[in-house]
Amino acid sequence: MLNNALAADHQQEAAFHGASLELRNLTLAYGDIEVLRNVSLQIPAGTTTCIIGPSGSGKSTLLRGINRLHEPKAGDVLLSGRSVLKDKPDALRLRIGMVFQHFNLFPDHSALQNVALAPWKIKKLPKQQAMAIARLRLDEVGLTQRADHRPRDLSGGQQQRVAIARALAMDPEVMLFDEATSALDPELVKGVLNLMADLCQRGMTMVVVTHEMGFARKVADQVVFMDEGEIVETGTPEAIFERPQSARLRRFLSEVL
Ligand code: ADP
Ligand code: MG
Repeated sequence: MLNNALAADHQQEAAFHGASLELRNLTLAYGDIEVLRNVSLQIPAGTTTCIIGPSGSGKSTLLRGINRLHEPKAGDVLLSGRSVLKDKPDALRLRIGMVFQHFNLFPDHSALQNVALAPWKIKKLPKQQAMAIARLRLDEVGLTQRADHRPRDLSGGQQQRVAIARALAMDPEVMLFDEATSALDPELVKGVLNLMADLCQRGMTMVVVTHEMGFARKVADQVVFMDEGEIVETGTPEAIFERPQSARLRRFLSEVL
């Protein structure tokens, strides 16, 4: 969390107005199998929560439950204190941006067109306005010089930055990242992580599933450790990494650090 002096400064410059997010006893199932049980989590506005845990522990399912790519079986999701489960999923996804491991860009569109498409086609902004927003967002991710390139002519790191710009172009209140750097060559990871840290500084509310323990340690306001569909521990980076309480977290850390 930023200290008060910094926070005041930050408020003046903040480009984003992240919303608070709360999960209450969220349960998600595939068929009869519950893969996420009774997950409760508070995410204050403008903070970053990193989710760590072994493969198959339910991290992706949790993100999919938040923006309802997967309908929760039970429990509630609150955005700015208001339940969103009765809203239409499409309306909710306008408010929550998501970035995946594989960038899923449209291959036949330029970087600029990829970013402009949703504001134009989904938000129904005039095309010129959508293009202006896209130019601004591409500039923010450092890709003005690549605006006319197709995805295949960009590096993986640049493609992921386009995907982030595309999500930001919808003015989301929350950003979800699912292993956004896992598919990148090692030398390209840092640029994307720096960009994510920058969004955090500018007041975005972020939920970041990551294997990058250095990022979680440095950037997260809270770290959540999941195992077998449950939240096992939640705490500050110091608490999670320096004073793990459970044998499960100690074992996980000994394997990844
Ligand atoms: P993580 O992202 O932590 O690796 P996931 O959320 O992808 O974990 O998966 C959690 C559990 O749900 C795993 O046991 C996985 O096999 C199961 N699972 C994931 N997706 C599906 C699906 N579409 N159908 C059935 N089971 C699934
Ligand atoms: Mg996953």
